[in-house]
Formats: sequence, structure tokens, C-alpha cells
Amino acid sequence: MPFSNSHNKVKMNYTAEQEYPDLSQHNNHMAKVLTPEMYANLRDKETSSGFGVDDVIQTGVDNPGHPFIMTVGCVAGDEETYEVFKDLLDPIIEDRHGGYKPTDKHKTDLNPENLQGGDDLDPNYVLSSRVRTGRSIRGFCLPPHCSRGERRAIENLAVEGLSSLEGEFKGKYYALKNMTEEEQQQLIDDHFLFDKPVSPLLLASGMARDWPDARGIWHNDDKTFLVWVNEEDHLRVISMQKGGNMREVFTRFCTGLTKIESLFKEKGHEFMWNEHLGYVLTCPSNLGTGLRGGVHVKLPNLSKHQSFGEILKKLRLQKRGTGGVDTAAVGGTFDISNADRLGFSEVELVQMVVDGVKLLVEMEKRLEAGQSIDDLMPEQK
Ligand code: ADP
Ligand code: MG
Repeated sequence: MPFSNSHNKVKMNYTAEQEYPDLSQHNNHMAKVLTPEMYANLRDKETSSGFGVDDVIQTGVDNPGHPFIMTVGCVAGDEETYEVFKDLLDPIIEDRHGGYKPTDKHKTDLNPENLQGGDDLDPNYVLSSRVRTGRSIRGFCLPPHCSRGERRAIENLAVEGLSSLEGEFKGKYYALKNMTEEEQQQLIDDHFLFDKPVSPLLLASGMARDWPDARGIWHNDDKTFLVWVNEEDHLRVISMQKGGNMREVFTRFCTGLTKIESLFKEKGHEFMWNEHLGYVLTCPSNLGTGLRGGVHVKLPNLSKHQSFGEILKKLRLQKRGTGGVDTAAVGGTFDISNADRLGFSEVELVQMVVDGVKLLVEMEKRLEAGQSIDDLMPEQK
């Protein structure tokens, strides 16, 4: 691992105290939870693939905070990470996921029929709708730790599996290294492709090693169903389209994702999953459903209102800029999505987005007309 001192054998000649990171300027979940005693207990442990505690925390050591979101400050290098380092990760998961306890069980619901409404978000405000999740293939290390061979094997599995999709899901794989600079930039600008490895969070975790080797995007002809290969997770599965029909987006998401899961199963590959954590992904913030359902929505008035932050919190929603997690909002247009991933089912999370965004748009219209929104203030969800 070039990014942390994990494989430095000499470090064990120093005491845990002498090796302890300086977290004095930090505001992330890892820094809140890690103590010198915990570090002392964990520092000589590693998973069977060789992922150590310094690998887990390095991204949070190097990135004290983030201008827009409260970050987790650690990553998993393989499925075992969550077990071997649970003394550190369980309290982080509890802190990040609204009190989710080590004994709690995760629920999955990928039946779009259980969603109520969601086909009528006002397209004058809601510019586009999107649902994404991640999936990890059991038996391979995760992106912060995988070797080149493993990464290429995952790419091959993905391309092979996805090539048998048919109908509205029929598509093609585009490897990053075969794209021109212009093609890549166009896909990024159109919000289809992950950003270049510019995020300090991604860089510090080791996920950008060997870039662009074995990274790419698979998408159907309409670019409404997309799969990212080997970015932050082995697979990111995305359904998106212009306008406010979140129901259609979620339905396509569920159908496509279920097809992909069976394709992998047919080839003898399971996704990482357990009863407690749900789907196991690289960032502990994405455990459970891994689902982020969101819209790009115009809220120029509401976003200036003093209660905007509080309203989002009450609706269990999160805001980002429209260029992705590392961007600020411009011109009053935001990416509004569910804040939770764990402890709620996929349907429940998308329901929160649908109901919440409806209310936000209603509030925006009121403010636009110079009216009060006091009577629309939501209860804490
Ligand atoms: P993710 O959670 O999928 O990693 P990011 O914040 O990193 O999301 O953004 C990835 C890309 O997806 C960015 O280009 C962003 O603009 C795009 N995106 C996210 N939500 C939407 C949406 N509702 N409509 C259109 N594009 C979106
Ligand atoms: Mg991202």
C-alpha cells in the first residue's frame, strides 16, 4: 500500500502512542471515535488479505474535514475489514447511521410496486432524477486495497456479465483508457461518468492507484442505465433520466440491478452481503442499501431561507452541488438525496426523497410568490 504505513514493519518498534495520528484539527466520524487505547489494540491486527488499521483510517487522517458533508474518515479494504476492525467501525457505523446498533438487522426491498407515487415531481423544478447503489463481488479486495490483477478480473467479470443484458438494458462497455480526453470530459459534464481522480478523499484512501487501468463505464444506448466499474466500489449501478419521474427511474433501477445480480450468480459470483450490514461497500457511509436516490432541483429561494438546513435534516435529506460530492451548488440548483443508507429499505429511502422533494418544491413555489412557508414545516422523520 503506497498510501499508508501499514506495510512498514519498523513501526512496531515504536509505541502506539508514538504512532498515533494527530487528529487535533479533525471533524470526521473516525476522528470522533478513535482513541489511543483503541489504536493500540488494533494496530497489529490485519485481515487475511493484509489490510491494517492504518489503511482503514488514512483517508480520514489526511482529510480532516470536508466543506460540504460530514465524512466518515475511513474505508474498508475487503469484506473482512468490518469484522476485524469492528471495535472502531461499529461505533462509526452507529454514529453515521442514526444509532444503528451492532445487533440490528438490515432490510432490503427492491420491489418498485411498494413505492407510493413518485411519477409526478414538477419538471419545472426537478431537472433530473437518479438512483444509484454500489455492489462488491465477494472474494475480491475492495478498491482501496485490490491489486491490478484483481481489478482487471473484476472488469472482465463485469463486461462479460453485462454484455448479456437485453432489451432496454442492452448496452456497451467503454474503458476509460480507450476514451479520448474529450469523450471522457463530455460524459463527466453530462453527469454520466464519475469524476477524474481529483477528490482528496479518494486519493488518500488509495482508490485511485493505477488510474485509469481497469476503470470504465457500461451504459445502455439511451444512457438511462449505467454501471461504473472500479471507481469507489467494484460496481456502481445507476438509473437516471431527465425530469421528475422518480418512479420510472426506480423501477428501471430495481429491474436492472436484479438482472445483474442473477448474471453474477450464474457465473458463481455473489455480492458481499450480510444480515447486519446489508450490502458491503468500500465506504461505511454506503453500507446497507448503498442507495442514493436524488434529484437535481432548482431551489433558489428556499436555499436562501434560514431554515433550509433544518428542513433537510428533518426530511432526512442531504444536499450536494450538481457536479458531484466535491462541488458547491451554483445558481440555486442542488443535488438533493436521501442522507441514510442503512436501517431503511430501498423503497423507504426513495419514498423519503419523493415525499421530501415534493415538499421542497411546494415551499419554493410559496417563497417565489412571496408567501410564508411556516405552516409547511415538517416533523422530524
Ligand atoms: P455518487 O453518490 O453517485 O458517487 P456524486 O456526488 O459523486 O454521486 O456524483 C456523481 C455524478 O452523478 C456527478 O456528475 C453528478 O452530477 C451526477 N448526478 C448525481 N445526482 C444526479 C441527478 N439527480 N441528476 C443528474 N446527475 C446526477
Ligand atoms: Mg461519488
